[in-house]
Amino acid sequence: MVGLLGLSWLVSYVLGGAGRVPPHWFYVPILLAAARFGLPGAAATAVVAGLVAGPLLPLDVATGTRQHFLDWSARLGFFLGIGLVMGAVIVRLKGSLEREIALAREGRDLALRESEATLRAVFAASPDMITMVEADGELGPPSPAVRDILGYEPAEYAQMDRMSLIHPEDRERVNETLRSLLRGGPPVEFRFRMPHVDGRWVVLESHARGMSDAEGRPSGLVAVSRDVTKKVTLEEALTSAKKEAERAREDAERANRAKSEFLSRMSHELRTPLNAILGFGQLLAMDGLEPQHQESVEQILKGGKHLLDLINEVLDIARIESGRMTLSLEPVVLADALSEAIGLIQPLAAEQGIELKAEDARSADRYVRADRQRLKQVLLNLLSNAVKYNRSGGRVIVRCLEVQGEGLRVEVSDQGAGIPPEMMDRLFLPFERLGAEGTGVEGTGLGLALSKGLTEAMGGSLGMTSIPGQGSTFFVELPRAEEPGVTDEQGEAGRRLGAPAPDGSHTLLYIEDNLANLRLIERALDHRPGLILLSAMQGSLGLDLARQHQPDLILLDLHLPDMPGEEVLRHLRGDPRTQRIPVIVISADATPGQIRNLLATGARAYLTKPIDVSRFFEAVDQALAERRLDPAG
Ligand code: ADP
Repeated sequence: MVGLLGLSWLVSYVLGGAGRVPPHWFYVPILLAAARFGLPGAAATAVVAGLVAGPLLPLDVATGTRQHFLDWSARLGFFLGIGLVMGAVIVRLKGSLEREIALAREGRDLALRESEATLRAVFAASPDMITMVEADGELGPPSPAVRDILGYEPAEYAQMDRMSLIHPEDRERVNETLRSLLRGGPPVEFRFRMPHVDGRWVVLESHARGMSDAEGRPSGLVAVSRDVTKKVTLEEALTSAKKEAERAREDAERANRAKSEFLSRMSHELRTPLNAILGFGQLLAMDGLEPQHQESVEQILKGGKHLLDLINEVLDIARIESGRMTLSLEPVVLADALSEAIGLIQPLAAEQGIELKAEDARSADRYVRADRQRLKQVLLNLLSNAVKYNRSGGRVIVRCLEVQGEGLRVEVSDQGAGIPPEMMDRLFLPFERLGAEGTGVEGTGLGLALSKGLTEAMGGSLGMTSIPGQGSTFFVELPRAEEPGVTDEQGEAGRRLGAPAPDGSHTLLYIEDNLANLRLIERALDHRPGLILLSAMQGSLGLDLARQHQPDLILLDLHLPDMPGEEVLRHLRGDPRTQRIPVIVISADATPGQIRNLLATGARAYLTKPIDVSRFFEAVDQALAERRLDPAG
């Protein structure tokens, strides 16, 4: 348009000079008329403009002189031309604009129809029930999914009072939820029950959200409901299975507790009589008996020792099985444990004419993470088997090597008959001797089962290979450990103090309710002349005696009729009069946790029954020696 106006101005200028150029403000009414009335309007306004610019305006606007007829007619013609051109352009523009508007409207209607069709398809195809609710609470038509979910035909269902079908227990809650959504509340998820045609209740899980109109006012809601009956049944089954499992776990824990109580009781009951058998046996053996009596006593001791080993092994296996084995894992120099075990087995090997040799043991200087005592027990078992089941004049070779990853391995190889492959899966079963019971070789069939359990409890593994007729190799692998930084030199020095002979000035108090045990200690102390022994068969009496007599050492049983020995110990430690008197616990309870507890409560040492008489003397002598050195003692 601007270009057109520029062109008209140029033409007028060329034809008539500056004086014939029409005033530009005349274009404005022409343009407006063209826009409003089209071609005829533009033409009429142009004529009027031409007339006005001519006869009605006798003066030339630009020059102020009277107009020439030629100028006037040129302007009239010019305005007419411009009016027509503008009218035509505007009419065209208007037409194309209208066409575009119509097209856009058509497109919008089409999109609307398409989206309605899509919605209808979704409504029809959805396996979930879709329900629309108007702002006034009026329910929309049910979706076809009602057929699959509740068994009703949608048309039939639409006629029913759907809200009153809801399970009476859920109805009020659902109503309240819908009301809140219709008030513009946030989207919600809820469950409720509806009846199926066949009479059963169907659990529906609904996801509902409110809708709003163009002004943002709540205009209804839409709810999508899914049949979750199976899911709910499963959830309920799962919850009850969980409860059941929890009950079973509690039962198992109770059974386990009962088992471990039984174990500790049995351990006590078996060790107490064994204490008398082995204790008196050891004392008799020290008495320098006639040779044939000496031999009988040795048999008693051997039988008692065997029984004790058996009890210990059975108890250990039971502890491992019930997960109650307590281990004290620490960095242990493999070489130390190995040489101690070899040292202990050497006499047996020599007696049987078996050569015992350690080879390639450089890696043994390294540390493994293990329970020192238990590791020794495992190594002893493998070494003693290698000796026991060797051929006569055979050899046992012990090797120590590093294994892939983070471990060290000890291998014990023998030259015995080996183990046939078909027997290997029974090798680690408790009491399984694989026919050795008929060979005269002594054993219980518990050693390997226990060793495997112990090794695994320490985080290692135990295995074997065997070539029948040539020999077997048993191996233990344990995780490597870092070298520990500090050692308890002070403690060690303390513990290594010599055992000076008692000088007759010591009093011992033994708190113990079992007469046989009392007698045993009395008899044992006959070997330490000059020691005075006081005894109390009850904890409270023991405490009184301790306060009155201030003995140099207290021997304490844990199983007392009036109070637990642990409590007696606590009283002793808490009373300034008895605080510094060393206490040696002598108990049939050999569980490591119990031992640690009592030592932590302040016991100086913990001896397990049956008593090893020489260890007993060692502990008593050391305690008394330290007592003599105690400035406050
Ligand atoms: P025990 O030696 O007390 O019988 P173990 O559990 O240590 O019990 O061993 C179980 C059985 O495995 C043994 O009775 C024996 O038959 C077999 N066995 C163990 N070590 C060896 C070995 N080095 N060579 C051959 N057989 C062995």
